[in-house]
Amino acid sequence: MSKTEELKKIKEEVFEIRGVLADLRREEKYLPVIGEGSHDAKLMFVGEAPGEKEAKTGRPFVGRAGQLLNELLASIDIPRESVYITNIVKDRPPKNRDPLPEEIEIYAPYLDRQIELIKPEVVVTLGRFSMVYVMNRYGLEGEVGPISDLHGKLFAMSSGAKFVPLFHPAAAIYNQHLKPALFEDFKVLKTLI
Ligand code: URA
Repeated sequence: MSKTEELKKIKEEVFEIRGVLADLRREEKYLPVIGEGSHDAKLMFVGEAPGEKEAKTGRPFVGRAGQLLNELLASIDIPRESVYITNIVKDRPPKNRDPLPEEIEIYAPYLDRQIELIKPEVVVTLGRFSMVYVMNRYGLEGEVGPISDLHGKLFAMSSGAKFVPLFHPAAAIYNQHLKPALFEDFKVLKTLI
């Protein structure tokens, strides 16, 4: 099967998931958000979970946090279409609450397969949940710490990819003092690809 076919299969499987978050899809007319971008991306961004706008459109990072992500990418001259953007949890948690550990457990295998298929040179997590998951899953469990200490630092994943944890753009919208750090950290990404 080609990479694109395998990615399509992931999409079909996620549409088949049942459970608390997936059941809300039908009630609220939401879609799962699988991911979008280049299947040959060198940079893969992994957020937390879809928000309202994402779940309405089925596309990641199209709301306010997405606007900031677009600005961050533009600041280092990287076209959004050249990267791959996804989330650890593919369905919207109600009222944008934090994902639960059991929700991460359900959806994370799809993220692992996306990483395996796309083989990005650099995995960039946005926020604490995807950071902690990737570090524990890819041999960096001994280095897990507060995101305020780890953001913008470079690690090596057991898959061979580089790994850079960053603050979530939504966090930088609520805490404006994080914004300059996020723009500085993006400059690191430019040096890695
Ligand atoms: N926040 C996320 O973590 N992911 C999205 O897709 C949108 C907002």
